[in-house]
Amino acid sequence: MHLKIVQAGNPVLRDIARPLTREEILSPHIQQLIELMRVTMHDAPGVGLAAPQVGLPIQLAVIEDAVEVHSPVAREILAERERENVPFHVIINPRISFDGDEMVEFFEGCLSVQGFTAMVARARRVRVECLNEQGEEVVINARGWYARILQHEIDHLYGTLYIDRMHTRTFMNTEGFGRYWKDFTIDEIHQRLQLPKLNAHDPMNPE
Ligand code: ZN
Repeated sequence: MHLKIVQAGNPVLRDIARPLTREEILSPHIQQLIELMRVTMHDAPGVGLAAPQVGLPIQLAVIEDAVEVHSPVAREILAERERENVPFHVIINPRISFDGDEMVEFFEGCLSVQGFTAMVARARRVRVECLNEQGEEVVINARGWYARILQHEIDHLYGTLYIDRMHTRTFMNTEGFGRYWKDFTIDEIHQRLQLPKLNAHDPMNPE
């Protein structure tokens, strides 16, 4: 059984999700939801899925990035993105903080903005305090692609989509990305699209 993934336009994607109590987390209802979200994310396929994306305004997201390396090229791309294997896990009631002020830019997409992609600046390192699926407190220190996934999913719990943070000039459908842009470096894309320089400190709050 699969859950339906809602698309941009559905108001639930703009709501602030509510935290869960430990009792709720351990309830059969939430435990079953986690399993359904795991399967739904896996089949989409995606590397993260937040509860609002399946229509539920609660502070819960599932994450799994099973990186398969097929070729030297793939290895190079994975290394550039600092993309490493992340086993399946659940984050509940997360609080996120940036670890340092280093920002990195890559294209990302979202299962709720299907068919599109854009370049988004994200913190390279983050620290997340949250509960796991057993209601236990967990601290996650992440960098690279995993840090990006965490920022993207936690944004969902606060009604924020990547399109709120993207370089708008890089917004494109995935077919166009594959046809024209996928082999360009981030620097080349910057030049071609005349993008503002990345403020290493925080492009979201320029001072
Ligand atoms: Zn998303």
